Amino acid sequence: MRLHSISIARIALDVPLPTLFDYAATGIGRDDIGRRVLVPFGKKIAVGVIVELASSSELAPQRVRQVIAVQRDIPPIAEDVLSLLKFCSRYYHHPLGEAVLNALPTRLRRRQALKLKNAKLYRLTAIGAGIDAASLPTRSKLKRDVLILMRETNDAIDETTLFAIASTARNAVKALLELGWIELCDGAQSDNAAADMPLQSATGPVLTMEQAEAIAAVRETASGFIPWLLMGVTGSGKTEVYLRLIADTLANKRQALVLVPEINLTPQLEALVRARFPSTMVVSLHSGLNESERLHGWLQAQSGVAGIILGTRLSIFTPMPRLGLIVVDEEHDASFKQMDGLRYSARDLALVRARDRAIPIVLGSATPALETFQNAIAGSYRLLTLKQPVNAMPAEIDYIDTRHSPLIDGLSQELLKAIDATIKRGEQSLIFINRRGYAPVLMCRSCNWSADCQRCSAKLVMHATNRRLQCHHCGHQAAIPAACPDCGNHDLLPLGQGTQRIESALERTFPAARILRVDRDTTRRKHAWEDMRRQIHANEVDVLVGTQILAKGHDFPQLNLVGVINADSSLYSTDFRAGERLFARLTQVAGRAGRGASRGRVLIQTEFPDHPLYQALRRHDYSAYARELLAERKQAGFPPFVHQAVLRAEAPQISVALDFLQRAALSAHEIQAAVTVYDPIPAPLVRLAGLERAQLTVQARSRTALQRFLGEWHERLSARAERKVRWALDVDPLEV
Ligand code: ADP
Ligand code: ZN
Ligand code: ZN
Repeated sequence: MRLHSISIARIALDVPLPTLFDYAATGIGRDDIGRRVLVPFGKKIAVGVIVELASSSELAPQRVRQVIAVQRDIPPIAEDVLSLLKFCSRYYHHPLGEAVLNALPTRLRRRQALKLKNAKLYRLTAIGAGIDAASLPTRSKLKRDVLILMRETNDAIDETTLFAIASTARNAVKALLELGWIELCDGAQSDNAAADMPLQSATGPVLTMEQAEAIAAVRETASGFIPWLLMGVTGSGKTEVYLRLIADTLANKRQALVLVPEINLTPQLEALVRARFPSTMVVSLHSGLNESERLHGWLQAQSGVAGIILGTRLSIFTPMPRLGLIVVDEEHDASFKQMDGLRYSARDLALVRARDRAIPIVLGSATPALETFQNAIAGSYRLLTLKQPVNAMPAEIDYIDTRHSPLIDGLSQELLKAIDATIKRGEQSLIFINRRGYAPVLMCRSCNWSADCQRCSAKLVMHATNRRLQCHHCGHQAAIPAACPDCGNHDLLPLGQGTQRIESALERTFPAARILRVDRDTTRRKHAWEDMRRQIHANEVDVLVGTQILAKGHDFPQLNLVGVINADSSLYSTDFRAGERLFARLTQVAGRAGRGASRGRVLIQTEFPDHPLYQALRRHDYSAYARELLAERKQAGFPPFVHQAVLRAEAPQISVALDFLQRAALSAHEIQAAVTVYDPIPAPLVRLAGLERAQLTVQARSRTALQRFLGEWHERLSARAERKVRWALDVDPLEV
């Protein structure tokens, strides 16, 4: 339906103002809502998205400018996504325009319309996807390369890219077309044809009792919005549960969205999903994609041709017309929350989206966030538990009491002995330390000078391999001084341990062992981590030293010993979430041990072996510990029993930031609401990259009360022109 009279389009633009912008347009109708437009904005031409239509504007007629063009190259952003974005903007008190534009692939934020028709796109057919490229004879090398490339690139590839493989690639493509292994994607029509292909799914393993029960519970439940918490110990086969539920979803001709933390979206996971559903187009959306890969994946989701979207945080905004299931794996993971700009939680938005679409959502974790766990206890989510690892016994966890065992370079004799025995058995060990570099502090023995970052309130970390000091907060680097800059003393002392120091200590103790360090420094190069994983699988490594990167979701069958050092530091942290996080992290690390045939062993060096956290961890009993933490939170009035928001401010001087927050607190007190307003305080890391930061926490028992308060507060704060302070609201903050 096109209106031929002039109407007003209310347009989202990527500007930090909490409003839509009115433009006049001719010949637009309701089916243009969600379409990109070009509009004059100031002296420039901007790309916007039509969010609403109106018959008139509150602006004076001479101030209403004309839409330059409506881009009808692709279907509009669907209403449910726009409504999710509106919710997001309201709930997080962030400009709608920024939210909408940031949710689009970069290519769609450009002024040029897409010219999709001209570029011929090819993709694998179901048959092609089922062909094992490696099994092709060597004389078909080119065909094999094309197949592999198409598989790696989410299936749809333009001809220019394909023909660039080799001068004769054109022939290979032609041959593959004739074989029916690849096909031309011909706009939306053939896309839908693909979605109508009969579903093939490879058979998975025989389910365990617990898996079967969990799946049956979901199947037997009426359709509609139902949040499930799948709480399963590491290795209990949560992925298999997701796969079966995804199979159901695909069989009903619906799409499934699987959100995973960035670090877990591995080629293995993608391969597993593709292999299980050979006739389904699987799109994976993550930060490693280039602009056009992301665009194509997004378009395949939007057209409905992709059956499964595997994606990180941002993919919660992907349009999926046939969305029938959302899975959030490792739902407790902090990476689901964006920490700057639009500070949304993809997990929480996933719940909102599932509710709006009236579909089930499965949150999976071995150590659910306490917010989630409390919802399950209270009955708002339904709880499914997997208590037994599928293939092995749960790892045996022991503590090394460092009050009684002297440490050399951070390592105890017991741990070294265990590593030695593991090497002798031909198995692998992993030493986990959550800090990269050589030593976190470089200090002068005679005057106590230490190397500090000039721009942050943090110490510079000493890195031995490139002999530099590095700030892990702002990236600042400096040479390691030959002598103390204050007193000239040459005796500078590295204090504490990082991965590099542990690596070199192990090299000294086990000169014949093959030691591999895995941290952000050694995995920076593209494919570095992939190569390392291959080495580990090929058993070319005896001892791994690594950070968080190693902790998550990798299956190393020969790994049987995990040693943990320096875990205590989070035990008595001022952050009330520290315990919950440490438990989650240690559970994940412990889960790396004993994924193969023999039972894994975990040795944790600590000064507090009797701490309740460590005791519960040894029993693999997160529920018990989580209930304890919940009782403490309830008593202290912390989330999830209250809802919080933090007003964060930064300025060149802390006094300016604090002063702004003081005034913000005053204006907060003027608002009638059942909300507690705390005093402004400096942020835990006061100086960051040359700016000083402070924060002000507000909290309320009722989410609605908090939201109503935030709306009014935000409006008052926005009304003032603050020139010296940058501020932002963080709703449901993970750090207070
Ligand atoms: P989680 O995600 O719960 O930690 P995974 O999904 O990684 O566990 O499963 C652990 C291992 O068990 C994987 O190697 C998986 O292939 C295997 N697995 C899962 N379910 C079964 C099953 N029913 N029978 C045999 N192996 C299974
Ligand atoms: Zn000195
Ligand atoms: Zn710094």
